[in-house]
Amino acid sequence: MGSHCDDSIVSSVKIPTIKFTKLFINGEFVDSISGKTFETIDPRTGDVIARIAEGDEEDIDLAVKAARDAFDHGPWPRLPGSERARIMMKFADLIDQNVEELAALDTIDAGKLFSMGKAVDIPQVAATLRYYAGAADKIHGDVLKMSREFHAYTLREPIGVVGHIIPWNYPSTMLLMKISPALAAGCTMVVKPAEQTPLSALYYAHLAKLAGIPNGVLNVVTGFGPTAGAAVSTHMDIDAVSFTGSPEVGRKVMKAAAESNLKVVSLELGGKSPLIIFDDADVDAAAQLALTGIVYNKGEICVASSRVYVQEGIYDEVVKKLVEKAKAWVVGDPFDPEVQQGPQVDKKQFERILTYIEHGKREGATLLTGGKPLGRKGYYIEPTIFTDFKEEMLIAKDEIFGPVMALAKFKTIEEAIARANNSRYGLAAGIVTKDLNVANTVSRSIRAGTIWINCYFAFDNDCPVGGYKMSGFGSDLGLEGLYKYLHVKSVVTPIYNTPWL
Ligand code: NAD
Repeated sequence: MGSHCDDSIVSSVKIPTIKFTKLFINGEFVDSISGKTFETIDPRTGDVIARIAEGDEEDIDLAVKAARDAFDHGPWPRLPGSERARIMMKFADLIDQNVEELAALDTIDAGKLFSMGKAVDIPQVAATLRYYAGAADKIHGDVLKMSREFHAYTLREPIGVVGHIIPWNYPSTMLLMKISPALAAGCTMVVKPAEQTPLSALYYAHLAKLAGIPNGVLNVVTGFGPTAGAAVSTHMDIDAVSFTGSPEVGRKVMKAAAESNLKVVSLELGGKSPLIIFDDADVDAAAQLALTGIVYNKGEICVASSRVYVQEGIYDEVVKKLVEKAKAWVVGDPFDPEVQQGPQVDKKQFERILTYIEHGKREGATLLTGGKPLGRKGYYIEPTIFTDFKEEMLIAKDEIFGPVMALAKFKTIEEAIARANNSRYGLAAGIVTKDLNVANTVSRSIRAGTIWINCYFAFDNDCPVGGYKMSGFGSDLGLEGLYKYLHVKSVVTPIYNTPWL
């Protein structure tokens, strides 16, 4: 197993100075009303990075008041789309200018690879802002043809004050995926970042202010889920809540929305995504795709290909390659450019993954490789592959959210489709084949929001992501991701001024 989990590497890295630790409400960084703070932890070491203001219900209420006022009376929803776009473009430029610091914050807070953050994640969030800035002046309704003599048209109007509840696995990506379309639509908002990863969200708030986003439009309240998060989903003056996280919490958010003001809800939830490799696949490329599909971002990615089904003709060859590649995969300090996998986000997640691995062993699945923690400190886990599992085992059913794959052999296309669909989730799926008929048949038969054929993790701003089944509803990204922040209003008037009613 490639491992760079050496203490000397960890200690040689310079941690960026933490500049922002307070709540961002109405354009100002402020302490929480209670004065309470909480620790944010470096998963490379388990050490405390900083203490962050702990917002709860009262702070969410203040932030909502600011957002409401900015929506009802402020300039943002009333600006021409082109002007919102100009400010959003400036925000994106500022992100580009601070790419290293933002990437470093996500590395120390979430254990993400610094090289990946710098080259991919942070540039991509700037691109997400630009994509939606480009759409801000193209928001329009339709002219309708009514059966009688009326002129009718639709308007698309900003939905109002939005609550965004963000998970920890992609602190920057998830944040910008939510706030960019909402800003373009002319909404105002309150963001509740995950308590594990509050650092970059506060930095983005600072950049938004520098870019000229008016006070009250973007508010960030750091704090815990059952307090600050719950206050977002129950608040009577939030018009829509956009949640990304676990199905368990998604259910609570939906229930709270139903029992408060029936706010609009969109849920981006978990997954247990299948990757199906057919006999005609290139063995080496398919094995690499399968490994990357589960170890990318240390498996803490909602679309991870955590179930891999390989057709019997190449199964043995794929297994051999996959195990070789997993053993050579380099786990260690996420600032080290040679490292391919950093630590899990925190102790809780680390222990949760190891518990699932123990379940797998106890329930009788065969451990092909991995299964152990790595290093003397920090939350590192080996890439882990189980085979000979039964579909009802926890490692086959549950979203582990770690570098743990369940690998199986199949015979026919029908069997592959049935097993792929045998999940309460439906977030994503992958297919590896050179046969177009097979690819078309399988992609249409799998009930999931994204299907990748001969690729995986191929995201783009233009391509909506969302779930089927218990993976949620309401897409992020693409124009679909913009429409969820817009109401449609129909306007109807008689053409010839005919008396009516
Ligand atoms: P989580 O559900 O524990 O937390 C998500 C957010 O909800 C956090 O900000 C948390 O503070 C908040 N929260 C917790 N309890 C709350 C409550 N009672 N009311 C309101 N908010 C509350 O999820 P997580 O552990 O941060 O993230 C991992 C999960 O997110 C996985 O299931 C993963 O699949 C999912 N995820 C999905 C997508 C997607 O696009 N579908 C993307 C990333 C992550």
